[in-house]
Amino acid sequence: MAVPCPGCGRQYDVTLFEFGRTLWCTCGSRVGRETRARRLDAAAGARFIADAMLGRLARWLRLLGFDCAWEAHIPDERLVRRGVEEGRVILSRDRALADEWRVSELHLLQAEKVRDQLVEVVRRFDLAPDIRLLTRCSECNEPLAPLPAALAAERVPARVLERQRRFSGCPACERVYWEGTHTDRIKRFVDGIVAEASGAPG
Ligand SMILES: [Zn+2]
Ligand SMILES: [Zn+2]
Repeated sequence: MAVPCPGCGRQYDVTLFEFGRTLWCTCGSRVGRETRARRLDAAAGARFIADAMLGRLARWLRLLGFDCAWEAHIPDERLVRRGVEEGRVILSRDRALADEWRVSELHLLQAEKVRDQLVEVVRRFDLAPDIRLLTRCSECNEPLAPLPAALAAERVPARVLERQRRFSGCPACERVYWEGTHTDRIKRFVDGIVAEASGAPG
């Protein structure tokens, strides 16, 4: 029996997933056996827009692969209008916003620290199965595209080029991303987020 990666379809042997173990596929997806039904209220393929105060949360959601719009100094009216027009869940910590605007797709965050906010959003929208690391630019929210090593060569340090073969680039800001040592740290961080989000609802 094989377990497919939800991101790229690559098959993994079932014995790798004993006791609920999960692993990271090379495509940046988390692979594991589905042990619980997804919550019915989870917004499949949820897209977000974060208010001006939540820039760090937006950046993290993008690193995890989620579409999260963010603008500095965005007025409430524009935030709400973008959310409604673009079908995005509005993320905010501003109670006044929820009082002033009757929008159903608004999630008022309880958590104050960015890590706790991430846990809260991953849990509320059941995002864990859809995490795709390094598939979206953390700076401008654009989906990344594969970048041939020859093209990446102009934009990354030589020492990186010696060790990495796979690169992706942001079509908007031309930032280059690769599986480097930094991703181990990110993966550990994300593992902690997912474990906490999957625990007993707080
Ligand atoms: Zn994969
Ligand atoms: Zn970018």
